[in-house]
Amino acid sequence: MKYHIVVYGCQMNISDAERVSAILESINYKKTPEMNGADLVVVTMCSIRQSAVDRVHGLVEKFKTIKKSNPKFKAILTGCILKKDKNKFFKGFDYIVDIREIKKLPEILGVKKSQKIDNYLDIIPKYSSKFSAHVPIMTGCNNFCAYCVVPYAREREVSRSAEEIIAEIKNLIKKDYKEIWLLGQNVNSYKSKDINFPKLLKMVNDIPGDFWVRFTSSHPKDFNSEVIDALAIGGKISPYLNLPIQSGDDKVLKSMNRHYTVKEYKNKIKELRDKIPDICLSTDIIVGFPGETKKQFNNTAKLFRDVEYDMVYINKYSTRAGTAAAKLKDNISTAEKKEREKILTAILKETALEKNKKFLGTESVVLIDGKSKDNWIGKNEHYKTVQVKSAKNLLGKFVKVKITEALIWSLKGEVIK
Ligand code: SAM
Ligand code: SF4
Repeated sequence: MKYHIVVYGCQMNISDAERVSAILESINYKKTPEMNGADLVVVTMCSIRQSAVDRVHGLVEKFKTIKKSNPKFKAILTGCILKKDKNKFFKGFDYIVDIREIKKLPEILGVKKSQKIDNYLDIIPKYSSKFSAHVPIMTGCNNFCAYCVVPYAREREVSRSAEEIIAEIKNLIKKDYKEIWLLGQNVNSYKSKDINFPKLLKMVNDIPGDFWVRFTSSHPKDFNSEVIDALAIGGKISPYLNLPIQSGDDKVLKSMNRHYTVKEYKNKIKELRDKIPDICLSTDIIVGFPGETKKQFNNTAKLFRDVEYDMVYINKYSTRAGTAAAKLKDNISTAEKKEREKILTAILKETALEKNKKFLGTESVVLIDGKSKDNWIGKNEHYKTVQVKSAKNLLGKFVKVKITEALIWSLKGEVIK
């Protein structure tokens, strides 16, 4: 039997899909890159934006056509699903499976009894890369930011035991993995027995081997001196941080239910840069949150100039039914949201280029993760995209590179050895 998997959304969904693959392959399903010809399609959906949900509706039409030529064809929906969307998708899918219940897939498919696993994160995944691995340390979220569906779709926070996490990473390092991403909706609130996130970081850093540790996401309200001190140890911990602020205006932050002020956030950045001067910083922003005035938006633009980010993930606000913000009027037009995004992108382009220029003439270690035309592409320790030319196959290798050119979104360099 052949299965095809469709993954929408973030690294957490990629990681979920890897666990789905492991379960299916344990009952002899073989992965196929094409949907046509598959006996089973599993969709790992994302509910963060309506556009992602609409894409799943689009797939349902495709399934109807496939079913005509293969009556045994089955489609399963899992991932980040909202209860209200479950009802809508009942007709389009044969099964809708809560991601925490994917160990039951064999039973659902009528093959055999499910494995006895309490936390689905403990399923050993079928990693999609041979050198970079996603290791979820927790799932769910307790924060209820006003715009966000995650606490509804993934429910409350559950942390994995540190022993399980360390065992998984040790196993990956034995297989020569070079990059480990620790994942969670808010890694800073990781807690298992007496082990919190800074302690876990130190434990991972202490695992012998030649690899990097990165993590995402961090909520600024829980990002404190103890986490900064753990990052400052350096070693295998990447000097890169994504600290999503969402808005540069206190009133908007309050209606977003974020529990910090711009000043508090900036103080944390100052402490971070004092302790780790070469840290590269990215953030997430939502433009056009309900009621965001021009003046409030300008505060975000000011924050951009003040903080000078290396990278920003700019999102246009999308109303999500059931969230607190859905009760507010989505009164910022799409055109205005696009305009605000354009203004922030213009500032980011300036700061990103300035930050990239600082790498000129320096040496970086780059983990090569792909190829585009003639260039090998990878990320350096600071999570900067670096392009190099080489006739050798560099995929999955650490390569020493001298940086020769700084562009807005990437660096170019020459392989040293
Ligand atoms: N947990 C992280 C945090 O606290 O910032 C964010 C995780 S969320 C899955 C990823 C990003 O999606 C958020 O940082 C936010 O910018 C964006 N996002 C979430 N809900 C959104 C919405 N309704 N409209 C637009 N962007 C949204
Ligand atoms: Fe969503 Fe907020 Fe939880 Fe992040 S912390 S996943 S933005 S509710």
